[in-house]
Amino acid sequence: MATTTTLKAALGGSFLLESPRPEDVFTPAELTDDQRLIGQTAEEFVTKEVTPHIAELEEKKPGLMPQLLKKSGELGLLGGGVPEEYGGTGLDRISSTFLSEKISAYASFSVSLGAHSGIGTLPIVYFGTEDQKKKYLPKLATGEWLASYCLSEPQAGSDAQNSRTRAVLSPDGKNWVLNGQKMWITNGGFADVYIVFAKVDGEKFSCFIVERGFPGFTPGAEEKKMGLHGSSTAPIFFENCLVPKENLLHEIGRGHIVAFNILNVGRFSLGASCLGGAKEVLGSAARYARERTAFGHSIGQFGLIRAKLAEMAIRVYGLESVIYRSAGLMERAMQAGDSGGDQIKHTMKVLEEYAIESSIAKVYGSEVLSYVTDEAVQIYGGYGFHEDYPVARAYRDTRVDRIFEGTNEINRLLIIQMLMKRALGGTLPLLAAGAKLQEEILAGPSLEEASDGPWVEDERIVAGAKKAFLLAAGAAMQKYREKLADQQEIVGALADIVLEIFVMQSGLIRAQKVAASRGAAAAAGVSAAARALLHSGADEIEIAARAALAAAVEGDMLRTQLAVLRRFLKREPADIIALRRQVADAVQSADRYPF
Ligand SMILES: Cc1cc2nc3c(=O)[nH]c(=O)nc-3n(C[C@H](O)[C@H](O)[C@H](O)COP(=O)(O)OP(=O)(O)OC[C@H]3O[C@@H](n4cnc5c(N)ncnc54)[C@H](O)[C@@H]3O)c2cc1C
Repeated sequence: MATTTTLKAALGGSFLLESPRPEDVFTPAELTDDQRLIGQTAEEFVTKEVTPHIAELEEKKPGLMPQLLKKSGELGLLGGGVPEEYGGTGLDRISSTFLSEKISAYASFSVSLGAHSGIGTLPIVYFGTEDQKKKYLPKLATGEWLASYCLSEPQAGSDAQNSRTRAVLSPDGKNWVLNGQKMWITNGGFADVYIVFAKVDGEKFSCFIVERGFPGFTPGAEEKKMGLHGSSTAPIFFENCLVPKENLLHEIGRGHIVAFNILNVGRFSLGASCLGGAKEVLGSAARYARERTAFGHSIGQFGLIRAKLAEMAIRVYGLESVIYRSAGLMERAMQAGDSGGDQIKHTMKVLEEYAIESSIAKVYGSEVLSYVTDEAVQIYGGYGFHEDYPVARAYRDTRVDRIFEGTNEINRLLIIQMLMKRALGGTLPLLAAGAKLQEEILAGPSLEEASDGPWVEDERIVAGAKKAFLLAAGAAMQKYREKLADQQEIVGALADIVLEIFVMQSGLIRAQKVAASRGAAAAAGVSAAARALLHSGADEIEIAARAALAAAVEGDMLRTQLAVLRRFLKREPADIIALRRQVADAVQSADRYPF
């Protein structure tokens, strides 16, 4: 089912340079009825079919998880990424994002579903031959067969291309013979189809479609994990495993293209799942705070508890704004493509275009969910530490979000690496913007034109944050040049600035859109959330930029640069406590995430 939007597609990473028009930024308020229906179906499925079985799933009742996945497939919840001609529902990017959010109340289920319908199925959608698509996709779209994605190995996680799994062609030329081991494979214990990466002749990193019944294929025992007890995570062993020659996926030596493009999708979907999880946990904490009494009051009346609920909602608001803005960008770019041409190639281009936004979604999503869950445990007090209460499980389950789909360290490095590649390749005019900023600095402070309006100060903060990035990145580039990648702490600080800018800007534009369409009073809650994000974001940026500058320049030059930084980030003081109280009121009157 395809739905349409009327967004303008900005270039990936261009949020650092441009001020998008509000109409070019998609927000959740613009979800269509069709899109909402897809989310509602997913949510109802989890509530009715999955939640009642959580205790059994956590105990790993044999066959239950695959049974539930297949049932969700019958409802069309597994085939969103598969085109209709191969039996899927061919969802647009916004619908599939909403589905990922709404399916996520129980992490073990959403991770299993994501491994199947995302990283397990999409390699065949994007890179399969016609015969491979016809053979596998109809069964994967309905859940008749379940899939998994086998990249990691005991000694090759972040460094995935350090794979020791080998593939050689059999003497009769009919089969690939695989030897080696994969590790940490989600759905590994029960999947039917495995997307496996191995090096042809020990050198050429390649990808294969492997079926459970192939000779020499053996799944290992379930891993004993800290969380996600309901999901299957197992090693897979290949001992002279015979894989038909035609099951090579894509080209020999091009496995990294499959692996990394698919991870871009996985990262973004993970961000959307974290959003769903964070809303669920926030709602549960808000209700608990209302019911629990201490010192003769509901704990929800205490300022320190209200501040927690507010800050949780503020960060969830930031994440939601980022996720739907990015989904809108991707969808618009998808629609801008020429369907008469190579649609799959176009999809790959779009995914690559927004790889920076996808890494931000993954890093920020997993960190917001970790923060929200940690604060929820605190609100539950001792009961939060007890397995009878759902936040204890959520706390354990979320820890891995910062580790898989590329650790948050690797994704932070990637954000800057991809930006620099775009800047040096001329796709993104960062260098020109940096040069222009230097001219502005040399010209000295100018008399700012007096402008007014309710958002002037907020927009000024975002504009100053962008200049702060150019200043810090420019100084770091000038000092370290092509060796900047070796300065990981500086790269990490720059990535944090980029991330904060995207969050601040997305939250602000969304609040402006709500105010424009529904009036300032109706937008009071989102405006308070957006402003809180702006001020905390500017604080974070100031710390990160100071660290990066101090590592790149010294002496008088450093003092001058820090003075310039202060000027860029100068802001009217905000009453953060009052902003949080406003958001807390909204959370408590909705008894859940309110926006
Ligand atoms: C529950 C679970 C499910 C999973 N599901 C799957 C799956 O379905 N399929 C699959 O293929 N894999 C899966 N994984 C594996 C996961 O993707 C890896 O664990 C992850 O990529 C990290 O690899 P690693 O564990 O080897 O850690 P390492 O790569 O050894 O990293 C250890 C630490 O070093 C840091 N580090 C590594 N390299 C650098 C660097 N260059 N610079 C700075 N810091 C660095 C990392 O950020 C991390 O903090 C799963 C893992 C878990 C726990």
